[in-house]
Amino acid sequence: MTPYDGKLADSLVDEKNGVVLRRYVTGALDTNTWVVHAPGSRDAILVDPADEAERLAAAVQDLRIQAIVLTHTHWDHVLALPLLADLVDAPVLAHPAATAVWAYELNHAEARGYWDAGTATDALLPTGLLRLDPARRLWDGRIDRELSDGAELVIGDLVVRMIHTPGHTPDGVTLALPGHLLTGDTLFPGGPGLTGWPLSDFDTIMTSVDHLLTGYDVATGIHPGHGDSTTVGAELPSVELWRRRGW
Ligand SMILES: [Zn+2]
Ligand SMILES: [Zn+2]
Repeated sequence: MTPYDGKLADSLVDEKNGVVLRRYVTGALDTNTWVVHAPGSRDAILVDPADEAERLAAAVQDLRIQAIVLTHTHWDHVLALPLLADLVDAPVLAHPAATAVWAYELNHAEARGYWDAGTATDALLPTGLLRLDPARRLWDGRIDRELSDGAELVIGDLVVRMIHTPGHTPDGVTLALPGHLLTGDTLFPGGPGLTGWPLSDFDTIMTSVDHLLTGYDVATGIHPGHGDSTTVGAELPSVELWRRRGW
């Protein structure tokens, strides 16, 4: 197997809940790609094909990727599509609102020549990392299976439940696994994901965050789309503070 030679990679084996999580960090915004399977099983899903498709494909050569699941369709979470979908031969699963979000992302990039990185845009523009590369093959927005709220995905012995968690984007989904939540850009250590640019809404994301933090055991792991993981118990006491500060 070709080893993964990109940025950070790590993994978590949770025998008690029957979940193995691998994380690979790629792209201009250091986006987390999560790979999930049951211990001892080769059947897996890949969540958020961020960037560097060949590296990600090499990293999962030992697994059978049954589906590529999108937590939302901001550009930094889907640049490795469509090449990765071809390389691992897997269908793309996303919330139906993904079509509109991806259309916004593409329109913005084509109109200006660079991707929208929210509040990080001005700082990152001089680095060239946000430049729309005309040579790159981009995803055509085609969803092979639409994920609505409550949809279940069976991956070997593992059942993954989709929870619609809009606010950061209308197409936001959180993947609920036994003992773990993959929250995309909806919930991070220290607060909700960014709102305040087109298609996002603070009150909506706080409703989603409330739902996640009050609906799961305090020991439940939270694994976001960027940076480190946390737990429900670590974040729950701060919800009212986040609501008061408004971000
Ligand atoms: Zn995002
Ligand atoms: Zn992101």
